[in-house]
Amino acid sequence: MSHYDAIIIGAGMSGLGAGIRLAMFDKRVVVLERHYVWGGLNSFYQYKGHQFDVGLHAMTNYAERGAKGLPLTRLLKQLRIRWDELDLHQQGHSAVSFPGAKLKFSNDFELLRSEVATAFPDQIDGFDALTTAVREFNELDLTAPTLNAREIVESHISNPMLVDMIFCPLMFYGSARENDMDWDQFVVMFKSIFFEGFARPQAGVRHILKLLIDRYRKAGGELRMKTGVQRVLHENGRAIGVELDNGETLTADTVLSSAGLVETEKLCGAASLAARAGQRPAPQGKLSFTETINVLDKPAREIGIDETIIFFSNTERFNYAKPDALCDTSSGVICMPGNFDLPEPPNDHLVRITNIANFDRWNELKRNSGADIPVRAEADARTGMSAPPDAYNTAKREWYTRSCDHVLGHIPDFRPHTKLVDMFTPRTIRHYTGHEGGAVYGSPTKRRTGASGIEGLYIIGTDQGFLGIIGAMLSGISMANRWVLQRDNATVETT
Ligand SMILES: Cc1cc2nc3c(=O)[nH]c(=O)nc-3n(C[C@H](O)[C@H](O)[C@H](O)COP(=O)(O)OP(=O)(O)OC[C@H]3O[C@@H](n4cnc5c(N)ncnc54)[C@H](O)[C@@H]3O)c2cc1C
Repeated sequence: MSHYDAIIIGAGMSGLGAGIRLAMFDKRVVVLERHYVWGGLNSFYQYKGHQFDVGLHAMTNYAERGAKGLPLTRLLKQLRIRWDELDLHQQGHSAVSFPGAKLKFSNDFELLRSEVATAFPDQIDGFDALTTAVREFNELDLTAPTLNAREIVESHISNPMLVDMIFCPLMFYGSARENDMDWDQFVVMFKSIFFEGFARPQAGVRHILKLLIDRYRKAGGELRMKTGVQRVLHENGRAIGVELDNGETLTADTVLSSAGLVETEKLCGAASLAARAGQRPAPQGKLSFTETINVLDKPAREIGIDETIIFFSNTERFNYAKPDALCDTSSGVICMPGNFDLPEPPNDHLVRITNIANFDRWNELKRNSGADIPVRAEADARTGMSAPPDAYNTAKREWYTRSCDHVLGHIPDFRPHTKLVDMFTPRTIRHYTGHEGGAVYGSPTKRRTGASGIEGLYIIGTDQGFLGIIGAMLSGISMANRWVLQRDNATVETT
């Protein structure tokens, strides 16, 4: 039987970050991944010669080369990656677009501030006060009490639509809670989107993943693909290893799990884990997404779309909640990856649209629709996909059309230029993450210290509470530092 210093469940961003860190310190470490591709939610695929990213719109947390004290700088230092190896290219500008109001923002925070001052002159003092509160809050204090962000934001800003315009991007890119966020989560997202901003490599998420996998392997880490963990083994309140889907047993001093809190509890036997932590079992997250991907026959800028990303709501009050219907297309995110300042033209000109969706309803439709037939096809004229006429595929076609129609108040009509489409539903999110209910940002309950209730088993990634590519990697790194390297008295610089 193989014994490791650490077993890591999941080869997403957090698992790879943790793995590199431990392998760099000569720990015997294995990353176990159920899929045949790495990256988790930030994975990639190919279809009809086109390369698509599963999740990536943008890397948040942009930092200039050598910028001090920022998350990206800390991450690079911890993983010993050079800034230019990431091949980052900044956004032009993005926007939050609501009925009758639009706020542009870029990687220069002054643009957003001046937009608020112009569009909401009576709110700018409150906005400045909120900005100061965000700047002064130490989101790395893992023991800080959990506060409701909405209460704090509303104590500074009295215009309800401006409140929702601020929340909209932060929720879409990282809230597991409906219509509110934990204050520490709000601060993390505010800093990463509005203070630091967006960038992306020319080749998308593949580039980042290749860098991480190469670094991990060179440092001596072991990676086992198509290797699911069936159970976490524990004795007398201490994790001792895992049992794999094929029945094989691996033992370890420490297990780091990026499978999600609800899912990790299940791997241990939910009742025992929650009871040991003196808590009720973690609630499953309710929020999931659909995403439509449109390949255009020309650059988005040539049809008059200048923004890199637009966070929109078609109603003055933004409702970030699980819809009763299959999707809620009244709000969403529109991403034009070709509108980053890329040195070369992208392979494809894309418009990606994300909407909030109801996992249970999509799942029910699929169960009643028989075989799992992928719905990707050449766009027929402007209506989207040709697909077998079962209920699931019919719904995909219908909601694809609605999703595209409902962004037209925010961008010019791109539909006549669509030559290929794809769409994923909450089932895809479950497929890539293993999260119950396709919960994109995991459980609303986070374990900020990583403690699971079982000694030697720690939560990393989404359900530790740090999201996005940079956040998830930093989560893996900081938990590896805290629970393995510092415990073993290695001299490590912490995040
Ligand atoms: C539509 C969409 C767009 C996004 N866009 C961006 C973006 O533009 N920028 C950004 O920074 N972030 C973005 N995100 C968020 C980002 O993808 C996540 O925050 C991040 O990838 C989470 O990483 P993770 O390691 O915590 O978890 P995951 O990515 O969920 O990885 C967990 C891994 O564990 C594996 N696993 C689970 N259970 C088991 C098991 N029992 N055995 C073995 N393996 C298992 C899974 O297969 C998976 O590979 C987006 C998310 C979505 C859904």
